[in-house]
Amino acid sequence: MDLRLTQLIDGQARDSGAGAVLEVFEPATGQAYATCPDGTPDDVAAAVAAAQQAFPAWSGLAASERAAWIHRLADALEARLDAFAAAESRDVGKPLALARSLDIPRAVANLRFFAAAATQFASESHSAPGVVHYTLRQPLGVVGVISPWNLPLYLFTWKFAPALAAGNCIVGKPSEVTPVTAWMLGELAREIGFPRGVLNIVQGRGTGVGQALVDHPDVKAISFTGSTAVGTAIAQACARTLKKTSLELGGKNPTLVFADAPREKLLDTVLRSAFLNSGQICLCGSRILVERSYYDEFRDALVARAQAMIVGDPADPATTLGPVVSQAHFDKVMACIDRARQEGGRVLCGAEAVKPAGRCGEGWFIAPTIIEGLGPHCRSNTEEIFGPVVTLQPFDTEEDALMLANATPYGLAASVWTSHLGRAHRLAERIEAGVVWVNTWMNRDLRTPFGGVKQSGVGREGGWEALRFFTEAKNVSIDLG
Ligand code: NAD
Repeated sequence: MDLRLTQLIDGQARDSGAGAVLEVFEPATGQAYATCPDGTPDDVAAAVAAAQQAFPAWSGLAASERAAWIHRLADALEARLDAFAAAESRDVGKPLALARSLDIPRAVANLRFFAAAATQFASESHSAPGVVHYTLRQPLGVVGVISPWNLPLYLFTWKFAPALAAGNCIVGKPSEVTPVTAWMLGELAREIGFPRGVLNIVQGRGTGVGQALVDHPDVKAISFTGSTAVGTAIAQACARTLKKTSLELGGKNPTLVFADAPREKLLDTVLRSAFLNSGQICLCGSRILVERSYYDEFRDALVARAQAMIVGDPADPATTLGPVVSQAHFDKVMACIDRARQEGGRVLCGAEAVKPAGRCGEGWFIAPTIIEGLGPHCRSNTEEIFGPVVTLQPFDTEEDALMLANATPYGLAASVWTSHLGRAHRLAERIEAGVVWVNTWMNRDLRTPFGGVKQSGVGREGGWEALRFFTEAKNVSIDLG
């Protein structure tokens, strides 16, 4: 095995207390290439204890001093951008160019954004005759952050940066499927002498370390990104100890294409929103709804573009679609494609495993898949697939489009393509989602609220929302008499 990962507990690199390890696989080759500690509840307890011990000093620093530490971590990460991008690409199977242009720069941006935000965070004061009320925003203490495998370092930093910036100490748990860049970040933290105990990273299975973190009585909040099933279980467990929770869960996002959609960026962006990161982004538009008068033309153009995608080695600069993340996920996505056929779907392209020549012959590649002919209520159109598989449905009127858009239990994001300003506003208001894009997709600004409704989650991340989540408001009233 090339790599042996460790946990970061109290500033030290630690194996699992039980000595157990998990294999880490390279999706492009299907081969194991690293081992990751499978941490224990005792490891979690040690990490929480270290975080508790570090909390008074860390929370007592001026916001500008905490920001300076987070900027130092960002500097160190930026200086290793290429190494981190290569590691992320290898661990997830995403094209190297994507990891280099999106994942790692965004992780750096997350750190810098929240470091700066901490120095700008203000609280309210309300005055009345004879009395003034002011609100303190105090850090919670030790918080747990749990992240998924699809955007490993991007989402891990998105969660822990605001937590640290607000003065908390954290115990983080990256996905056991893609643990490498979180481990590398822990090593960077040690290298730059990041204050020990402030940032702890435990590794291992969700049902082991993850559950232990959620259940730990001294953890004040859990910020979770992952599946709706696990998020629901975490919400139930957190209710027992009344922990604060922020839950960013699954999606089944609609892309609404009207016949008057501006054409310039339309097809490129819809293709990207369907297949970026092999469709493994919670924001991907997996249900494409097209106005009937434009349906055939749009369908044929989209299928031609999907067929022209280059499925292959993520390390090859020509590749536009890498593998899916694991054997288990490959099996799940292929089973979803079979089910779509059984539900009456017509496959327009893809729907098969791809075996690239050379080192990637055993990798978990699936050709970009487009399916039509399925109604809005079948499982293919209501359940998350989270792979390179999208469906097409025609609609006749704006009301029709809205009904289709809202016909899932999820409500994370939507994109609407139209030149009609009034229609864009009307739909943005009525679509059940936390994020709506008009004539664009995944256009992110870190200041804006981010999160879902319905089964896509509870709470918002981003900007002040994140700093509010990671602090407790305390109101103080002073009688001026
Ligand atoms: P997952 O729910 O299986 O795992 C997410 C994390 O939770 C992992 O670190 C896992 O080890 C941990 N975990 C699992 N069981 C646990 C338990 N009982 N207690 C505590 N932790 C536990 O999700 P995944 O397969 O890693 O990620 C894919 C899912 O994430 C998709 O549903 C996707 O839509 C969702 N996602 C949502 C967003 C968003 O912002 N809304 C972003 C990215 C991914």
